[in-house]
Amino acid sequence: MALIVQKFGGTSVLDTDRIKNVASRVGKHRLRGDRVVVVVSAMGGVTDNLIRLAGEINPMPSEREMDMLLATGEQTTISLLAMALHSLDLPAVSLTGAQAGIVTDGVHSKAKIQNITPKQVHAMLDEGNVVIVAGFQGQTPDGRITTLGRGGSDLTAIAMAAALKADLCQIYTDVDGVYTTDPRVVDSARRLERITFEEMLEMASLGSKVLQIRAVEFAGKYNVPLRVLSSFAEGEGTLITFEDENAMEQPVVSGIAFNRDEAKLTISGVPDTPGSALRILKPVSDANIEVDMIVQNVGEDNKTAFTFTVHRNDFKRAQDVLRGISTEIGAGEVGGDTKIAKVSIVGVGMRSHAGVATKMFEALSNEGINIQMISTSEIKISVVIDEKYLELAVRALHSAFELDKSGVVEEGM
Ligand code: ASP
Ligand code: MG
Repeated sequence: MALIVQKFGGTSVLDTDRIKNVASRVGKHRLRGDRVVVVVSAMGGVTDNLIRLAGEINPMPSEREMDMLLATGEQTTISLLAMALHSLDLPAVSLTGAQAGIVTDGVHSKAKIQNITPKQVHAMLDEGNVVIVAGFQGQTPDGRITTLGRGGSDLTAIAMAAALKADLCQIYTDVDGVYTTDPRVVDSARRLERITFEEMLEMASLGSKVLQIRAVEFAGKYNVPLRVLSSFAEGEGTLITFEDENAMEQPVVSGIAFNRDEAKLTISGVPDTPGSALRILKPVSDANIEVDMIVQNVGEDNKTAFTFTVHRNDFKRAQDVLRGISTEIGAGEVGGDTKIAKVSIVGVGMRSHAGVATKMFEALSNEGINIQMISTSEIKISVVIDEKYLELAVRALHSAFELDKSGVVEEGM
């Protein structure tokens, strides 16, 4: 008898029909003899609507009351789902985050889970119930309701699975797994049988929005086997797991991620002296602007050109900060470009393969795409290119790394 935690997101519980559909999915597992804990989000759109209502009443609502309000979204779904299971003659009970023993710190709207003591969950499972836990919420040691940040139900499910030492955490969503890249851009994008936590983190932070990043980090840290599946279609989904040391060969590149959210800034004529990079980036970080890629190179005149990327929303502010710095340190012009895109190839197999970058650059060069910036890590190579070539680049890379063909590694678990 397996213990599984199943999480259903907002689109999976959008209306009462979909809640009934979730109940029958859950029921199937229960009837097979599994012990099932279900974590649900608020019905799609409800959280946003609650935020809107609060704004109509008070532009600066108290954080405590805001969390109290937002927690009601998930509370609606847990009780409705319990009722739906009862209609199928299945014993089920719903629990709020607090009742399920989820204790968080006191940082309202983005609280961190401190510990979970799932006494009630165990007791109710032992009585034969499906236990339904409200996602996205917890309680401070002194009894205040908190929420875990947008998309936080993924985290609830994974943390619950870790605390219960569940055999598997299934995340049901509106896509049927993790893909080699966005199928809207590349027709031949393929569902991956499996992907490592590390790769998933890169894919998630690079803009493949299947799972909350924090939740993936947590799953990796506590070794919670994770499967992403569709709520609407049958299928195996994608297993997110550790690197398979027994696999004969890992694919070199597992996926291609991209985003159009960044902008590039360049400050030229920077004196090549110790502390220059610090003097440029400190004021930027003091302004709370996150920097992603950084490239610096010294020219013949002992001046450097210093280029970095920020989120597009921060572009104007970063530009203003830089103009101030330029005058201060005697540098030259401040240039910028918001029409860029970042494309990355991701794969743990890269660690043991030479020539991956060459192959990437060759594929881009064959399409006449100019590379503006490059950065690498152990399992990823990212390039910044002109935004208008993004889709072409993704398609070219997808076929250069043969991602449309089924991988060498077959499902092992
Ligand atoms: N309902 C919350 C949100 O919309 C949590 C979640 O859906 O995971 O962010
Ligand atoms: Mg969600």
